[in-house]
Amino acid sequence: MVKRIEHLGIAVENIEESIKVFEVLLSTSCYKNEVVESEGVRTAFLQVGESKIELLEATNDESPIAKFLSSRKGGFHHVAFEVDDIDAELIRLKNEGFQLIHKTPKDGADNKRIAFLHPKSTNGLLVELCQEKSESSDVMLDK
Ligand code: ZN
Repeated sequence: MVKRIEHLGIAVENIEESIKVFEVLLSTSCYKNEVVESEGVRTAFLQVGESKIELLEATNDESPIAKFLSSRKGGFHHVAFEVDDIDAELIRLKNEGFQLIHKTPKDGADNKRIAFLHPKSTNGLLVELCQEKSESSDVMLDK
């Protein structure tokens, strides 16, 4: 089940400068900075009500964010939907014909298991599914 918009991912060229801009814009403080080496991104999170803004800066030239920024200045990059069972959702969406970038969930920022859907199958929108890690490990402990 898809529960809510967990965060919006915004690609930026300079995360330190962007954090300052978004802190003023949203009148809040960045509460988390985290590098996800496997994705080649440095992330920063700001809370907006029940959702978040995730700022993303590339850590190397092969990063998806570096590729994204090579064709534009930055801006909206992906929407992340929180789901209650990411494994089940990936199977459901694959069966519905969606193209998966990650066939199985991987570790993401902010204590999440994540997987992306290919924009080709979502009308050009890059979609991330995410689930809190603690929830899923609880489930595994129950088994
Ligand atoms: Zn994200």
